[in-house]
Amino acid sequence: MYLPNDRHVENRLLVPALEQSCRQLGVNIVCGAHVIRVLSDGARATGAETILGQYHAGTLVNAAGCWSATIGVPDEALRPPVFPVRGQMLAISLPTQEFLSRVVRSPRSYLVPRHDGRLFLGATMEEVGFDKRNTVWGINKLLNGAQELFPGLRDCAIQEMWAGLRPGSKDHYPVLGATVLPGYLLATGVFRNGLLLAPVLAATMADLVTSGQTPERISPFSIERFARDEVVAGKIPGA
Ligand SMILES: Cc1cc2nc3c(=O)[nH]c(=O)nc-3n(C[C@H](O)[C@H](O)[C@H](O)COP(=O)(O)OP(=O)(O)OC[C@H]3O[C@@H](n4cnc5c(N)ncnc54)[C@H](O)[C@@H]3O)c2cc1C
Repeated sequence: MYLPNDRHVENRLLVPALEQSCRQLGVNIVCGAHVIRVLSDGARATGAETILGQYHAGTLVNAAGCWSATIGVPDEALRPPVFPVRGQMLAISLPTQEFLSRVVRSPRSYLVPRHDGRLFLGATMEEVGFDKRNTVWGINKLLNGAQELFPGLRDCAIQEMWAGLRPGSKDHYPVLGATVLPGYLLATGVFRNGLLLAPVLAATMADLVTSGQTPERISPFSIERFARDEVVAGKIPGA
């Protein structure tokens, strides 16, 4: 399939840009405040205990990605069933800038050309816990997948390799919205699509925080579906 409107962003520039934009809007960003647990007065969430002290707030959103379930909660039913799914990637030097100008996907790998002459090869899907190492198997798989598509890559220099941890869930769908503890919200489990979904999820969560009402479009993604045992891998919640 040829997808002329397919776009990609430079993710390493995106987060600093987001931070700058937030600060310009007056958002107070505290770095290094690792959250240990959610604080509650028994009736509702009242804030977070962090390694830098306590922060109090009327509403708390757990958006800690694959670490969301590591944050202490007053009741185990509030812990999102989210876990890390490792993705290994590498960057090689494009033979020429004209070699490839569009994203190419195959069942075995995908290739993303950048404007600075790098070509990204991605990505593995591995449930190996909180382990961000690159492995022989992973890198081999990516290189073989890319060479199957483009044998001309064989002499390209490898520039960099790395791995990231995606926030996965049992049915591979996000875990969003209110919980049984008033004031404690979840925005996690976005798995392979966290960048793609970020704008719509941010707007939707902001609606929920300001109105107190769960927008219809996210109600199927509540944490409650796991308690009802309606969860099947790949099945859209509520469908
Ligand atoms: C190789 C690879 C390729 C990918 N490609 C794509 C793609 O093409 N398109 C796409 O849309 N998505 C892609 N993804 C998925 C995307 O990266 C994730 O879905 C997204 O980063 C998840 O965003 P998040 O904000 O939920 O979690 P994260 O980005 O993991 O952010 C969670 C944050 O919470 C912080 N945190 C954790 N614990 C605590 C704590 N206790 N206290 C305070 N802070 C804490 C962490 O430090 C981190 O900054 C890819 C992922 C990988 C690994």
